[in-house]
Amino acid sequence: MMNFLNNMNLLPKNFIVANIVEVLKEDPDNGVEKLYEMSGTFITDSQIKAIIGQIKGYYDSHPSIKRYVKNMIYNTNKTCLNHFLQNIAVKELWEGLSIREQMSQKYSVNVPHSLVINIGMNCSLACKGCLCKSDPSLAMPLAEIDRLVAEARELGIHIIVLTGGDPLMNDSLFKVYEKYDDMEFIVLTNGVLLNDQRCLALSKLGNVLPLVTLEGGGDEIKQYIEPSTYQEILASLDRMKAHGILFGVMTPTKQSNLKFVTSDDFILPLIRKGSRMNWYVTTSHGAPSEQLGANELSELEARISFIRQTRPYVTIVLESGNPFICRCVVGPLLFHYDFNGQHHVLFFPQLSVKNSQNQPLIQVLRKIQS
Ligand code: SF4
Repeated sequence: MMNFLNNMNLLPKNFIVANIVEVLKEDPDNGVEKLYEMSGTFITDSQIKAIIGQIKGYYDSHPSIKRYVKNMIYNTNKTCLNHFLQNIAVKELWEGLSIREQMSQKYSVNVPHSLVINIGMNCSLACKGCLCKSDPSLAMPLAEIDRLVAEARELGIHIIVLTGGDPLMNDSLFKVYEKYDDMEFIVLTNGVLLNDQRCLALSKLGNVLPLVTLEGGGDEIKQYIEPSTYQEILASLDRMKAHGILFGVMTPTKQSNLKFVTSDDFILPLIRKGSRMNWYVTTSHGAPSEQLGANELSELEARISFIRQTRPYVTIVLESGNPFICRCVVGPLLFHYDFNGQHHVLFFPQLSVKNSQNQPLIQVLRKIQS
C-alpha cells in the first residue's frame, strides 16, 4: 500500500481527489467501475494492481458496501464529498499519520488522531432532567478555539470533534470552519438549529459533519423533549439531506435503549433520511442504568457488526470518559479495537477552558497524558 501511496505522490493530492469526485458524481451508478478501469490504464505496478483488485473484489462481494458508496455519491454534494475525502483520507490518514509520528517523537508526547473541544454549555434546548446550564465562565473564546485548531493542524491532527452544549449556538464558529478548510469538524448537536440558512452555509463549506443526538424514536425520547421538538429534529435531517450535507447520528447507548437503537426500526428510517453513520457512545461513568455490562457490550458489538455487514450504514462504538449529560455526550472519547490478537485503545482527549486556556496544545496533551 505504501508503494501505491508513494507513486501517487507524483501528482498533487487535491487534484487526484477532485478528479475522483468528478468521476464519481458524473455517473454515481458506475463511477467506481470507471475509476477501476481507469486505474488499469495508468497503474502498471503489479503489486498495486493486485491491491486495487482486492479492494474492488471486496466492494463487489459486499452489497451493503456497494449500496453505501452509491448512497454517499448520490446524496452528498461535491463540496462535502471532496472535503471529506481530502480531510479524512488524504490529510488525516495519508499525510497526517507520519506528521503525527514525527511530532510525537519531537515533543515526547502521544499526538492523538483527533481532539474533542468542549466549547461551553450553551444549548438551545432544555431537555427534562438535563443539568447543563449556560455558564459564561465555561465558554471557550473564539480566539482560543482558533488557536487550538491551528496548533492541532501543525501536529498533523485533521479531525476535531466539537461538543457543548450545542456548538451550533455559536455562529461565529463558521469563520473557523472556513479558515481551516483542511480540517474536518465533527459537530455534536441536538439538531434543532439546522435551519435552511445554516444548512446552506454548511453545504458550501463542506468540512463540517454534524452528528445529531438521537437515542431512540419519538416514543423513547418524549420523556426528555416535546414531540414537536422531535419532529423539528427529523425535519433537520431532511433538510441536511436536501442540501447534500454529509451527516450522521450520535446515540448515547444505555441499558434501556440498547435493543431499540440497534434494530432496523431505528436504523432504516435514519438511512432513508440521509444519515450515513451512527456513533454509539457508551460510558462507564455516571448512573448504573447508563452503563453497559460485559454481556451488553458484547451484544452491542455483535449487533453493530451485523448492521455494518448487512445495511448500507457505518456504525462505530466509542466510549465516553465522562457521564452522559442527560441525552448528550461530553468528555474525552475512547475507541477500542482488536488487531493482531491484541486489544488497542485510541484516546481522543477533551480540551475545555478548564484544562487548556492560554496553554500551548503540546503542554495540555502532556498534562492529560501524565
Ligand atoms: S440534554 Fe443535550 S440537548 Fe438537551 S438540554 Fe441538555 S445539552 Fe441540550
